[in-house]
Amino acid sequence: MTETIERDVMEYDVLVVGGGPAGLACAISLKQRKPDLTVCVLEKASAIGAQALSGAVLEPGPLDALLPGWRDTPPGICIPAKRDEFSLLTRTGRIRLPTPPQQHNEGNFIISLGLLTPMLAQAKSCSHSEDQAMSCASGTVYDAKTGSCVLTTG
Ligand SMILES: Cc1cc2nc3c(=O)[nH]c(=O)nc-3n(C[C@H](O)[C@H](O)[C@H](O)COP(=O)(O)OP(=O)(O)OC[C@H]3O[C@@H](n4cnc5c(N)ncnc54)[C@H](O)[C@@H]3O)c2cc1C
Repeated sequence: MTETIERDVMEYDVLVVGGGPAGLACAISLKQRKPDLTVCVLEKASAIGAQALSGAVLEPGPLDALLPGWRDTPPGICIPAKRDEFSLLTRTGRIRLPTPPQQHNEGNFIISLGLLTPMLAQAKSCSHSEDQAMSCASGTVYDAKTGSCVLTTG
């Protein structure tokens, strides 16, 4: 016997899978360009940022372009990188090496990715799109007739 599962259906113009920096930036950018689009971000973690655990050095150029005012309300951890030291660690000490050009972080910020993503989610909700945390995208079906894509969660 086949059981039919009745599912809630929610319709959006755009569904972004994954509330990491890329997914959230995509949603923000879409709403900036086309405010009338309905955009939903699905995130499998219990909250945006809950599984974004990395500390990170942020090169701020892309964020300046996406959210020009972000420096006024930066994420909870956001420390300007002041100097670089490049060392080879040995069993007993360290040997200072010249810093390679691509390792210079002047102008960059030391942040927590887990605090940056909620900040992006906040910016996104100001632009009236939705988050669905604890929603794991588990399958897609493309309907060639309507050109729409059905995505199941759970
Ligand atoms: C240890 C470490 C250190 C790093 N250091 C730096 C650094 O210093 N500077 C820097 O710029 N970058 C750094 N990075 C890289 C940076 O973290 C990634 O480039 C960035 O997080 C990628 O963003 P993303 O949105 O593409 O993916 P992710 O951050 O991986 O986000 C993807 C999101 O999708 C969700 N997801 C996945 N599958 C599903 C599903 N089926 N349904 C719903 N949701 C789903 C996940 O839970 C996650 O929240 C580092 C990475 C690591 C691991």
